[in-house]
Amino acid sequence: MSWPINEIRADFPILDQRINEERLAYLDNAATMQSPLPVTRAVDAYYATTHSNVHRGVYTLSNQATAAYEGARQKVATFLNAASANDIVFTRSTTESLNLVACGFGDLVVHAGDEIVISVAEHHSNLIPWQQLAARAGATLKYIELKTDGTFDMTSAAAQITSKTKIVAVAQVGNVMGAINPVTALAQMAHQVGAYLVVDGAQAVSHLPVDVQQLDADFYAFSGHKMGAPTGIGVLYGKPALLEQMDPVQYGGEMISQVTRTTATWKAAPLKFEAGTPNISGAIGLGAAIDYLQQYGLANIQTYEHELMASLLPQLLALPGVTVYGPTDPALRGGVVAFNIDGLHPHDAATGLDLLGVEVRAGHHCAQPLMQDLGVSATARASVALYNNQTDIDQLIDGIKQVKEFFLHESRSNE
Ligand code: PMP
Repeated sequence: MSWPINEIRADFPILDQRINEERLAYLDNAATMQSPLPVTRAVDAYYATTHSNVHRGVYTLSNQATAAYEGARQKVATFLNAASANDIVFTRSTTESLNLVACGFGDLVVHAGDEIVISVAEHHSNLIPWQQLAARAGATLKYIELKTDGTFDMTSAAAQITSKTKIVAVAQVGNVMGAINPVTALAQMAHQVGAYLVVDGAQAVSHLPVDVQQLDADFYAFSGHKMGAPTGIGVLYGKPALLEQMDPVQYGGEMISQVTRTTATWKAAPLKFEAGTPNISGAIGLGAAIDYLQQYGLANIQTYEHELMASLLPQLLALPGVTVYGPTDPALRGGVVAFNIDGLHPHDAATGLDLLGVEVRAGHHCAQPLMQDLGVSATARASVALYNNQTDIDQLIDGIKQVKEFFLHESRSNE
């Protein structure tokens, strides 16, 4: 596929710098994606021309800030194909969005004896809120197991989702093994038993087209910083009837309708969930990030990243002494791949790669139950975005060979 890689990379000047005197190959996009110039410019322009508090003012600047903030909400709604901007709550992050659902909605619908179903591969932010909710309610947290290739075992899903299930919560794309999960099928299974489906979209939003209505997700959470927006802005989409039912978990200015000395009533969603002054510049940056990704098209981005993974995966798999976790078929994956080098701690591998300009993550990736299942304490992880190129992939593969040579004293001619 012909991909305007030079045009795209020119929008990410951070990629041009040298790290440890080496060309930078930024491959930690699953943690945070870099922001393109149109995003940083939109944030700068907001501070230079429009900065003021939203919703409260009767004066022009405040009205302009409100229009920009609410305009960003509309962009998110269109991006997710939500029916209305009122279905979009601005939060701080995926983590805050998932905690909001678990407390504001979970506390209403999960009671003693009920069950909550998640998968073994969930990020802690889609695990601990449910673990805590189960403990509060006297409910049971159950797990969908994985097949050996890291994809969901749907027989296990069918066994775990029962008439006792009230909530099913899964990632659309896993943040360790990168598997694209069958969210639509899980929505059907959840709805058949009267349960709700919560989707963690953190690893999906900048990598594939998302349509919350087609997925039939009841709630969908993601973070702006995983898609080129600033940190500190996130989103919770909810079906309108559910947002209406859901309780706020933070109280204060902006979210109230009427307050007396002893009582208070709330505004309608989404504002009842946005107590206090929101992250206005973050929302505007998120709107600009959405425009940026849409300019290239999420389906095209997915195809391009798939090409990168189709190059990376077989090369990684062919390296002796390297274990790759998750699906070997790139079609089953997003742009994330976890791996380990035999005899080398992943922190040493990542530190060695850093010296060669290759930035990958190492650790448990906030997925300790998955690490326990894999029988490791940590892995290295590489992840791509729309601006990565074949040189980045080559630099990673060559870097792994050099790191093995350096730490394990292996001769490269043996490979
Ligand atoms: N879920 C998944 C699948 C993630 O990859 C991440 C970020 N690593 C999160 C949730 C949490 O995102 P944040 O830290 O932005 O809240």
